[in-house]
Amino acid sequence: MYQDTIAAVSTPIGEGGIGIVRLSGPESQAIANRLFTRRLESRRLVYGHIVDPTTGDVVDEVLVAYMSAPHTYTREDIVEVNCHGGPMALQRVLELALREGARLANPGEFTLRAFLSGRIDLAQAESVLDVIQAKTQAGLRLAVQGLGGRLSQPIRQLRHDLTDVLAYLTARVDFPEDEVEEQNVSESLRAALASIQELVSTADAGIIYRQGVRTAIVGRPNVGKSSLLNRLLRESRAIVTPTPGTTRDTVEEAANIKGIAFVLIDTAGIMDGGNEIEALAIERSRRAIDKADFVLFVVDGSEPLTEADCTLAESIGARPVLVAVNKCDLSPKAELDGLPWLRVHTSALTGEGIPELESAMASAILGGTVVPSDAVLVASPRHKDALVRADRGLSLALASFEEGAPEDLVTIDLTAAINALGEITGETVTEELLDAIFSRFCIGK
Ligand code: GDP
Repeated sequence: MYQDTIAAVSTPIGEGGIGIVRLSGPESQAIANRLFTRRLESRRLVYGHIVDPTTGDVVDEVLVAYMSAPHTYTREDIVEVNCHGGPMALQRVLELALREGARLANPGEFTLRAFLSGRIDLAQAESVLDVIQAKTQAGLRLAVQGLGGRLSQPIRQLRHDLTDVLAYLTARVDFPEDEVEEQNVSESLRAALASIQELVSTADAGIIYRQGVRTAIVGRPNVGKSSLLNRLLRESRAIVTPTPGTTRDTVEEAANIKGIAFVLIDTAGIMDGGNEIEALAIERSRRAIDKADFVLFVVDGSEPLTEADCTLAESIGARPVLVAVNKCDLSPKAELDGLPWLRVHTSALTGEGIPELESAMASAILGGTVVPSDAVLVASPRHKDALVRADRGLSLALASFEEGAPEDLVTIDLTAAINALGEITGETVTEELLDAIFSRFCIGK
């Protein structure tokens, strides 16, 4: 348990109806009592004022929640001061808490404490961020399942089963003449391997649901890119999120298509509409293609393909591509045999073909995989990587065992597999890994 008490503003910066300053640690209650006009009671929301104890100035009218350890987010004493959501009031309350002995929390430190105190495991801690950042209902459902331990539970079971096998093999090495109860090692390893491989097979879809797909809508001017984009967004606009780490105030727009967030690249340029110089538009399209996981290539079906269409087609490369042959309400003139991708005929004007376009986009990404809604999905590249390493270790251990290799050779690979699984839930974890994970959080989470 930590000795110090941390504090941070836990709501986003800006003006809002309410904003929360959160404290966690052994001094939370004492610090809050020195600033608050009323006495705190655990698990009661108390109305009162925050007052600067040195000047007597009233800083804000607030509601304060005090939750005593251990049944709290961090398992420590927690105080949440519900202020009015203006930056000044929040900043002043935070400053007072710091002056009274709290320390400014590091990024993700509340959640880190929840993990280190054992209330949640590492996969659950990561799910906190996934819940916050979810862009579609499917993404949110996955994240909430993760938070509840949906992935952790089978991983822990696997680790438990493999540790049993390891103990058995080790006992046979250490006490060869003792009676050790026979275990069917091959069978146990095979069963674990099958479960791990099943989990790995869900990862590509899971990662897509969690992260979305970076999508470039490309084509020469006037083919109808922005009209199509508006169609896709009008029916299924996902939540718009500011892009962190950019100096420009860019926002990312995402079309929510069948539960997948198609995060659109560089929409500002596309939205400029038809008056662009062609060469510039092609260059912009090319840059977007470079950043994309998926390309929607729009051509005008009512005109023959042009030089520019072909140039663009050549720069697309090996990414998943879908061609929208737009303006299908006009008489078809384009000769499309040169385009080696799946095509959908659309009219951004009348809406014809849009549902077909959406279905085709989803299946271009998921490759037709249908994931049952109750399946455990691996949704993070980190978890997938650990599972792949567990798979490798276990395959090697199984092969060595079946070849009759010495037991300690088998146990080395088996231990590697067990440790890889432990990285997912955080049982085996390095300082660097924790830093890497929690630095993705911001202060207050
Ligand atoms: P962009 O430059 O590729 O973004 O193209 P726009 O979306 O700005 O469309 C260019 C012009 O084509 C506009 O006048 C649109 O109204 C028109 N347009 C777009 N889609 C269609 C369509 O499906 N059918 C017809 N007839 N016109 C369309």
